[in-house]
Amino acid sequence: MHERLYMVPLDEGSRQYADWLLNELCHKFTLKPQTGIVARLPEEAYNAQLNQYYATSILSKLEMLKGSDYEMILAITEEDLYIPSENFVWGQANSASRTAIISIHRIKPEFYGLPEDEELVKSRILNVASHEVGHMLGLKNCKQPDCQMNIAKNISELDNRSDNFCTECILNLTLPTKVKI
Ligand SMILES: [Zn+2]
Ligand SMILES: [Zn+2]
Repeated sequence: MHERLYMVPLDEGSRQYADWLLNELCHKFTLKPQTGIVARLPEEAYNAQLNQYYATSILSKLEMLKGSDYEMILAITEEDLYIPSENFVWGQANSASRTAIISIHRIKPEFYGLPEDEELVKSRILNVASHEVGHMLGLKNCKQPDCQMNIAKNISELDNRSDNFCTECILNLTLPTKVKI
């Protein structure tokens, strides 16, 4: 049984990437694409001082929309995300609740004063989203430099990050890790 991945765009700016991204991810990870969950950014996740949304708070809202353990939810937003220990995050995942969110805010070249580049934006979205799906499938951040589960601290590290997983992470992905005890 293929696990199901729901793609949930949270705003207009992210909606245009939702169908494309869902297809790419389901192909890459052999998941069943799902749509139909409608959600918006929860107001209580907004931090006016930072002008950012608290990623963990959004994930706990997404968890309530889930039907079963076989389902994963990946939300996407154009707003900027943070967690208390970091200035910003590209995305955040909870492997226990199998929910994740990614932001396109800092992957747009315009954020860095550079001209728009849709192809670059798409490759970065796929990079960030694949990392978070990896977490939802049980992977941890990885120290191997040639691995997509490596941490990217800034945009150049993100652009240099591999779009593949290292051997150890691939083994962890394919082993039956989801056996319930
Ligand atoms: Zn990570
Ligand atoms: Zn790895």
